[in-house]
Amino acid sequence: MWHVNLISKAFLFVVFYCVLLSDVRSQSRTDLGIPDIPGYKTIKGDFHMHTVFSDGKVWPTTRVEEAWREGLDVIAITDHIEYRPFIKEGDHNIAYDLAKPTADRLGIMLIKGSEITRREMPPGHLNAIFLTDANELEKDDWRDALRAARDQGAFIFWNHPGWSRQQKDTTLWWDEHSWMLENNLMHGIEVASGLDQAYYPEAHIWALEKGLTMMGTTDIHNPIGMDYNFAMGEKRAMTLIFAKEFTESALRDALFAKRTVACYQDNFYGNQEYLEALFKASLQIQEVHKRGNRFSVKVYNPTSIPIKILKAPGNEDKDFFRWLTIAPRAYDNFTIVAPEGATDDFVDVKWIIENYKVSPGKSLPVIMRLEAKP
Ligand SMILES: [Zn+2]
Ligand SMILES: [Zn+2]
Repeated sequence: MWHVNLISKAFLFVVFYCVLLSDVRSQSRTDLGIPDIPGYKTIKGDFHMHTVFSDGKVWPTTRVEEAWREGLDVIAITDHIEYRPFIKEGDHNIAYDLAKPTADRLGIMLIKGSEITRREMPPGHLNAIFLTDANELEKDDWRDALRAARDQGAFIFWNHPGWSRQQKDTTLWWDEHSWMLENNLMHGIEVASGLDQAYYPEAHIWALEKGLTMMGTTDIHNPIGMDYNFAMGEKRAMTLIFAKEFTESALRDALFAKRTVACYQDNFYGNQEYLEALFKASLQIQEVHKRGNRFSVKVYNPTSIPIKILKAPGNEDKDFFRWLTIAPRAYDNFTIVAPEGATDDFVDVKWIIENYKVSPGKSLPVIMRLEAKP
């Protein structure tokens, strides 16, 4: 049987060098270019994803590497508690434990989470993150699972509220969700989910009206490159969190304080305050020159997301573009023609930022003062 031995030795040799090479090969990380806003650090996160320890198709470390490559700062792996077709039973903390050394090595913040999963609506699926022991969530009654999560200090959010398998035609709010709100058992809601490749307008309204934190997540099950065509410019869903500092406790505080914007493809969804701060931090006014009544303006978009500007009503005394898209990491020049004889060295323009959504069907209005520098 010497040849079998030889083959197995050769196999081990190959495995050994593959492992060695996987640690030294160079990888590149995308810089999303999304800026901080006044008073807060902008943390980019995805708090909903699966691995082979539920019904996902990848090993936990792969989720960390994907997030690092795609420019995220923080993730939570949230395998289903109740649905684990590949392993049936065992420790619910295992995906976190396996991923943590890779997260530490790459500087990705890894938050412990789980998906509390009931087939029917209500209550549907809920994610609990900042858990200390996910095993405590294995309960017959979903109410007990939520209570166990809350007792660990978890931040809990309603997943894919408009998923057609659970809400056939209409996205409904159920009495059970009111009960969760009243009992401090639901703090956020997915406004955009990669599962449906969708934005849920109802969830956006509920977040504004009921005071829920807006979340954007992938709910990724496959290797991410199978679901998103990055080469064609597709972008994974994510949540931007505005935290006092880059720590787990500041992140948690920010989520409970509803300081988030959900991001999906080229759109941001949030409340007006944070969207306006994000827009003003994102668009760099680099030069404004005035000659006569003409202002020549040079701008730069440092982010990986386009900035789509529309002219708003109330600019009738000026002449400038009706719409302008500033591509990712691109400069643009435009001219504002102020009224004849204007003497001010600034001009105020009213814009609508089309891809910054403050509520369903309503985009962010801004007034920009463009001030000429000598
Ligand atoms: Zn789910
Ligand atoms: Zn899920």
